[in-house]
Amino acid sequence: MENCLFCKIAAGQIPSKIVYQDEDVVAFEDINPQAPHHVLIIPRRHIASIPDLTLEDGPVLARIFMTAAKLAHDMGIDESGYRFVTNVGPDAGQSVFHLHFHLLGGRRLGWSPG
Ligand code: AMP
Ligand code: ZN
Repeated sequence: MENCLFCKIAAGQIPSKIVYQDEDVVAFEDINPQAPHHVLIIPRRHIASIPDLTLEDGPVLARIFMTAAKLAHDMGIDESGYRFVTNVGPDAGQSVFHLHFHLLGGRRLGWSPG
């Protein structure tokens, strides 16, 4: 999709610190990290947000969650724990309208989010 920041990151048109990619999924470091480990995991294909998902997206969602588990293991936070979240709409503070999941870890995370 034109003028989508994360489509451009997925296509390599905007530099980012990519930590994992395959045909369906790209993972890169968040530019404004909120924890010692803060990675964003996105579908390569443009999906704006949760309400735009269809059953056909099931396999890519599974791959996104499996990528979170793999990266958490690689980063050494699988045993200490981590949070895996997506923001939807204004109250959650969604600022980029290409579905993305935040993988956060490396410190104790408060609950509920402030
Ligand atoms: P959200 O507020 O849930 O929509 O999350 C958007 C996230 O994208 C924020 O945590 C930003 O710090 C992050 N972000 C914005 N621009 C970039 C970029 N160019 N590279 C990496 N992360 C970015
Ligand atoms: Zn996009």
